[in-house]
Amino acid sequence: MSKTTSSNAPATNFIRNIVSDDLKANTNQGRVATRFPPEPNGYLHIGHAKSICLNFGIARDFGGECHMRFDDTNPTKEDTEYVDSILDAVKWLGFSWGETIYYASDYFEHCYDYAVYLMQHNLAYVDSLSADEIRAYRGTLTEPGKPSPYRDRSVDENLVLFSRMRAGEFPDGAHVVRAKINMASPNMNLRDPALFRIRHHPHWRTGDSWCIYPMYDYAHAVSDAVEHITHSICTLEFEDHRPLYDWVIENCPVPYRPRQYEFARLNLTFTMMSKRKLLELVQENLVEGWDDPRMPTIVGLRRRGYTPGALRLFCERIGVSKADSLIDVSVLEDCVRDDLNEHAMRGIAVLDPVKLVIENYPQDNEEICHAPNHPQKKDLGHRPVPFTRELWIEREDFMAEPSEGFFRMVPGGMVRLRYAYVVKCTGFSSDANGQVNEIRAEYFPESRSGTSGSDAFKVKGNIHWLSVAHSIEAEVRVFDRLFNDPNPAGAEDFRPLLNPNSKSVLEGARIENSLIDAAPGSHWQFERKGYFCVDTKDSKSGKPVFNLAVTLKDTWQKR
Ligand code: ATP
Ligand code: MG
Repeated sequence: MSKTTSSNAPATNFIRNIVSDDLKANTNQGRVATRFPPEPNGYLHIGHAKSICLNFGIARDFGGECHMRFDDTNPTKEDTEYVDSILDAVKWLGFSWGETIYYASDYFEHCYDYAVYLMQHNLAYVDSLSADEIRAYRGTLTEPGKPSPYRDRSVDENLVLFSRMRAGEFPDGAHVVRAKINMASPNMNLRDPALFRIRHHPHWRTGDSWCIYPMYDYAHAVSDAVEHITHSICTLEFEDHRPLYDWVIENCPVPYRPRQYEFARLNLTFTMMSKRKLLELVQENLVEGWDDPRMPTIVGLRRRGYTPGALRLFCERIGVSKADSLIDVSVLEDCVRDDLNEHAMRGIAVLDPVKLVIENYPQDNEEICHAPNHPQKKDLGHRPVPFTRELWIEREDFMAEPSEGFFRMVPGGMVRLRYAYVVKCTGFSSDANGQVNEIRAEYFPESRSGTSGSDAFKVKGNIHWLSVAHSIEAEVRVFDRLFNDPNPAGAEDFRPLLNPNSKSVLEGARIENSLIDAAPGSHWQFERKGYFCVDTKDSKSGKPVFNLAVTLKDTWQKR
């Protein structure tokens, strides 16, 4: 069964309460079986993570099982590329599905047999209206539908037509199999919904065996029943489909009677999750693929530097309810901070460097300062950071004409260079465009951090730096939210809402030498800057590329 490394004890929620009550009452003979049933027609996103954590989490915590199942009933939209990425995402999130992977396509024969059974019991028929006619006959929310002229075909005629459909005798759209329920039902899903349609299209698993395919709602209920699922958990938009689900379970000779429960799907501010729209982002090159670090896909978030622990923590924090809500994306970003603060090693980078020359420091001198690898974890030790006469500091840590409350490097002012000395700024020079290109300072030899003399120097600013001779250039990619609008999912057209500055590449950034071989996928906190992840795609040996996962603090609110 599924295992995870999450240290947080899962909070309860209404679905967990149902499962727990069922266990107490020995419903389902004390068994718990859930399933996670994606359609292999796109990459998983953060919304799916909520469903994964819920379904696999319940199985894990109640001694049950969670079936990994592909709902592969639509042969025209599916691809093995998606199957592999879905499995990879579930595994990466820390869950496992045991020995078996389930496929709805394994139950096409069951779906066929049950449809025959329904026909034999006058509960299904072959309809020969066109798709447009069926739509017109269906009625509206305020008007009842009317029966198809083919609704009363004899059992024998239905059975013969159905077997000829299967044999491939008719073109796409010539006939459909419909459940005979109630054309006047206030619930449109019960107005004789389609069960099977003709599609002359090979399926990635069943090949050319079938030219008729079951509809999603029908196949879903059948799959759950065949797999003896106890709790079939889906999102709220399927609430109106539950009567159909129950009708299928009730009227087909299924081996088990699962029950469906609905919860509110995850919606996040500044984020769009519809697979169709994400596909448009990719196809129109508005992002650089499914794993673009700005995408809400699991592959994108992962590449960005979000961790499985952060996503599980997020799913834990937002909880599960039946009320639709829009979660602030800053909740997710905070989870990433909390997880990476704990797990990321520290490093130093100067993202927008300007040179600082310590004029009274000997030309060829070099001394070793010590920076902690993790300030809260002393056992992780320190690493050497060489100090020399020429250093890089952040451009934003210097102001020629300081504004009030600016306590970093200013002409005539003192500031501490972290883990090293207090320096006093003695001057600066600028290029022809007025851009500062060198800052000069003198250091106080007795001010070195960690020595008794250093206490005598009281300065407010404490800035990071790197030795020019002991640092290397690295590409650093800084990401911001993909959309400027808090609700892109609600917009008619999301394109005008895209943030044109969602990605910037810092070409001249410097990193400490020790980071040259940082492993692709490893996470780092660059002191005072944020959490970064070594890009898994574009980093080369000796040439790491860093992606900004999240800044140290939430700066978005202040804009
Ligand atoms: P989309 O609507 O984006 O195309 P989907 O719901 O069709 O997504 P599926 O592959 O059918 O995607 O989803 C697999 C499972 O994940 C389903 O049980 C679905 O309810 C759940 N799921 C999808 N999106 C979300 C979400 N935003 N929040 C929670 N669960 C979700
Ligand atoms: Mg779906």
